[in-house]
Amino acid sequence: MNNFYNSYFKVDTETVVRNFYKVKDYISPDTDIIPVIKGNCYGYGLVPMAKIFAERCHAPLLANAAMYEAVELRQNGINCDILIIGGIPQHLLHGAVEYDLQVPLFEEVTAKKLNDLAAGTGKTIKVHIKLETGMNRLGVRPGADLSALLDQVKKLKNIKVVGAYTHFATSTADYYDPFALEQFEKFKEGAAQIEAAGFPLTYKHCCNSAAIAWFREAYGTHVRSCSSILGHMAMEDGREPIGLEEPVEIGAYITNIHSVSPGETIGYSRAYKVQRPMKVATLSIGFADGFYPKWMRGGGPVLVSGVKTRFLGCCMDQSFVDVTDIPCRLGQKAILIGRDGGERITTWDMEQFCENTFEYLYGTVGPRVERIYI
Ligand SMILES: *Cc1c(COP(=O)(O)O)cnc(C)c1O
Repeated sequence: MNNFYNSYFKVDTETVVRNFYKVKDYISPDTDIIPVIKGNCYGYGLVPMAKIFAERCHAPLLANAAMYEAVELRQNGINCDILIIGGIPQHLLHGAVEYDLQVPLFEEVTAKKLNDLAAGTGKTIKVHIKLETGMNRLGVRPGADLSALLDQVKKLKNIKVVGAYTHFATSTADYYDPFALEQFEKFKEGAAQIEAAGFPLTYKHCCNSAAIAWFREAYGTHVRSCSSILGHMAMEDGREPIGLEEPVEIGAYITNIHSVSPGETIGYSRAYKVQRPMKVATLSIGFADGFYPKWMRGGGPVLVSGVKTRFLGCCMDQSFVDVTDIPCRLGQKAILIGRDGGERITTWDMEQFCENTFEYLYGTVGPRVERIYI
């Protein structure tokens, strides 16, 4: 056990569970949530978050982007249904049989291969037909292409179609985005075609978090969501109609405090030029911990002793903070995301500052940052 971390990412699990039920109350009673825990659950930690969703939220099905993540869950004792929603390299498909995973299907080569793999073990693989409706990433188009796929699948005895899904290219844009409306029409057409071909669909899912906020008509049997449960509707304008709370605090520690004078510089390439007498703290976090450099290099906000100050620069493992006129001491915390005294820095603040999404900002937080679950 190595508990010697320089920084932390603390998750308030009660808030996660509360958010889950707030979203569940917001959507219609006929709709369930499929938590999407891809990208190390957006940095929150794959296995601990899966346990929260499976055991405390009783989610019927968890979704991942990659075989790697799904297998990681199985190897850590997660036994609930798991769906992979992303594209799977052909040479990894056998994992679906070995680890009893549900997978997307949208073309015939994979259908045949999955069926052969399953037949070899006497198992049946559950698939969700991914419908191409406008994202042009993965999927089969409703109409002739879908028809041909369904004809093939009818002959394959070890594949069971249980679901159909699509993904909105513009769901984050705004209320009643016309392109998403068009995509949903295509989805309905495809889903009806699948059911008419004799495959009843237990799962029909289109909406991510932002679409949950505005696209009630498209809920289907399930919505796929992560951002909302982590306190964000992932709307481009930051709207959040449900009253969700942020479950995260991110912090590091002061390892040095020193005074600098005009004419001196701070950091590599003499990047920060000191203009007035300043007090500077060095923090135990840097870009190798995964934080987007713009955050720490570009003057992003940080809380020290309940005062909102700013980063002056960062290196791979360490960073610099302006603590002029802020009482502080060696070893104390500095907070990158969270509350301190009356001050607060939210994930939304950081998205605005970095001009990047929190999926990116937190999804890249590395293993050197301790994940704490309270
Ligand atoms: C990531 C993802 C989701 C979840 O998105 P959120 O906005 O975080 O809820 C849903 N569907 C697909 C296909 C995804 O890739």
